[in-house]
Amino acid sequence: MTLFYSDVFVLPLPAHHRFPMGKYARIRNRLLGSGEFAEDDFRVPEAANDAEISRAHCPSYLARIVAGQLTAREQRDIGFPWSERMVERSRRSSGATLAAAREALTRGWSANLAGGTHHAFRDRGEGFCVFNDCAIAARAMQSEAGLARIAIVDCDVHQGNGTAAIFAGDESVFTFSIHGARNFPFKKEASDLDIELADGTGDDEYLWHLERGLDETLERSRPHLAFYLAGADPYEDDRLGRLKLTKHGLARRDALVLGTLAARGIPVAIAMAGGYARDIEDSIEIHANTILTARTMGER
Ligand SMILES: [Zn+2]
Repeated sequence: MTLFYSDVFVLPLPAHHRFPMGKYARIRNRLLGSGEFAEDDFRVPEAANDAEISRAHCPSYLARIVAGQLTAREQRDIGFPWSERMVERSRRSSGATLAAAREALTRGWSANLAGGTHHAFRDRGEGFCVFNDCAIAARAMQSEAGLARIAIVDCDVHQGNGTAAIFAGDESVFTFSIHGARNFPFKKEASDLDIELADGTGDDEYLWHLERGLDETLERSRPHLAFYLAGADPYEDDRLGRLKLTKHGLARRDALVLGTLAARGIPVAIAMAGGYARDIEDSIEIHANTILTARTMGER
């Protein structure tokens, strides 16, 4: 199996910035330490190129990102200071999801050990998201592999608003988001299927809704490929999430999503998405566990 990482492309952030940049290398190290993976299972992806990015984003937005010509407002919405390394990291992270999608089509599953930048719209970014990796990868798979139907299963605690907007009115890509009703973004977009959960929702109620949402998604979309955004931020001790899932509940979530896709023979590309636990080691454990769960599903 192959896992794609881009944690070597770290962008410079001011001290006390709330984005956990160090999380990604530590997920990779934890997986290496698990003994389930070999060194050469981990690969640095190609950067997504302009043509690939432009299938999901408007060319003028891409050009302004590359040239560092965003307005102060646009920069503030993204939440990162501009740097060439911000551009490179964003390209690599999108490239990682794209590479994982290609790999999934031949091996059943693969993962980007970052990504899930679902708040990026066609012409703007927000919430630490510059380019929408799953949208870029979905468009690439339609173009390269001729896939007619793709599903995006977004289990991050925040709604996949950018993804919903990019694929609005597009029947070839089904967007499903299950998220906290009162979490960012405060103005939600319409996904093909949204499940909004109340503050404090716990494991059993979450999983009950997820199972139904997943069934409806697969019935309605009958996808040839799925993307799974396995956000660690529905966790009860997350600083940004308002739900109350335990680590065990999140492990059951991963098993439900990945097991359902495996049972139906649907390849899956996994992206990590958010995770901001008070003790960041909790987020790292939850993310790593997603990959270990996928590993137990074996090659298909
Ligand atoms: Zn999130």
